[in-house]
Amino acid sequence: MKGEVLLINPWIYDFAAYNFWMEPLGLLSIGGVLRENGYQVRLIDCVVSAPPAKLRRYNTWKIPKQIIPKPPLLREIPRRYGRYGISPEGFLKSLRRGPRPDLVMVTSKMTYWYPGVFETIKAIRSIWGDVPIALGGTYATLCYDHASEFSGADFVIRGEGEIEALKIADEITGGSSKIERYSLSDLDTFPEPAHDLMPRRNGSLPYIALLTSRGCPMRCTYCASRLLHPLFRFRSPESVIAEIERCHVEFGVEDVAFYDDALLVKAEDHAIPILEMIISRGIKVRFHTPNGLHASLITPEIAELMFRANFKAVRLGLETADEERLRVTGGKTSLDDFVRAIESLKRAGFTAE
Ligand code: SF4
Repeated sequence: MKGEVLLINPWIYDFAAYNFWMEPLGLLSIGGVLRENGYQVRLIDCVVSAPPAKLRRYNTWKIPKQIIPKPPLLREIPRRYGRYGISPEGFLKSLRRGPRPDLVMVTSKMTYWYPGVFETIKAIRSIWGDVPIALGGTYATLCYDHASEFSGADFVIRGEGEIEALKIADEITGGSSKIERYSLSDLDTFPEPAHDLMPRRNGSLPYIALLTSRGCPMRCTYCASRLLHPLFRFRSPESVIAEIERCHVEFGVEDVAFYDDALLVKAEDHAIPILEMIISRGIKVRFHTPNGLHASLITPEIAELMFRANFKAVRLGLETADEERLRVTGGKTSLDDFVRAIESLKRAGFTAE
């Protein structure tokens, strides 16, 4: 064993948050790579710490919230601001429960959640003042200078972090990993995310989040996808099916949420083979698309395959009903596309709620 790395998913600081099959996928992917190279890996997820006794539909649940003062910039918003996830005391207890790690890796999501990231790093420093801390994820990538200056992390990782994280771990522990086996242009070179690190319920994982691709070929003006993932790449359908089947069989997963930005792009080479394999192999889990599908790409054939594959919560992306705004912000869909998609889904058997 080369050394121990503690992965931490920080709190959400926001006005609302709900667990629609959340996993810190980037962090879990780093965890998979570190383990493949001989590191021992632990996870503390401040948001999804333990599934409650009673779950809501499709294994979703409300995340506990503690009301906290609003930051000055948000003071005018007439809603209650909060820290979502475990209590600060609970987090400190989780940190103290384990040995001092060789390296702590903290992820970050929405840029405006950065106060939760800072609090997390402060809490880690209060226990192990000099432990090396690396920060990655969405906020770290999009606000790199801000994160470097103010977060308190020793390393800030920009973009997809697996290779960089492995280099940092090697640098700190003096290890030497086979970094050259990984390529960000071939997603199949990476192992599965370490889903098994997530908290269980009665011994099982209720759900997993899944990425079958990274990036998006569209360029909507309001979207950061191209900054987070400059290249659009797919995993092979076979690797996706293997991950779903393994998680279902080994961990008892019942719900799988696709978090792709562009699941249906080039569907004939990607989504359609995945859907056909789910059906032909009789995989008995429920599927969801919380990140929103491209309505313009939902054909009658795809809608029918999704229905037969047991998709349940299907979301479509529609940022505005103003046709002109849709066009000038990137034209990923039109109102006609949207109506056609709904009709295809209804014909396939889906009902609206
Ligand atoms: S289609 Fe979606 S993911 Fe792609 S650029 Fe537009 S908003 Fe972003």
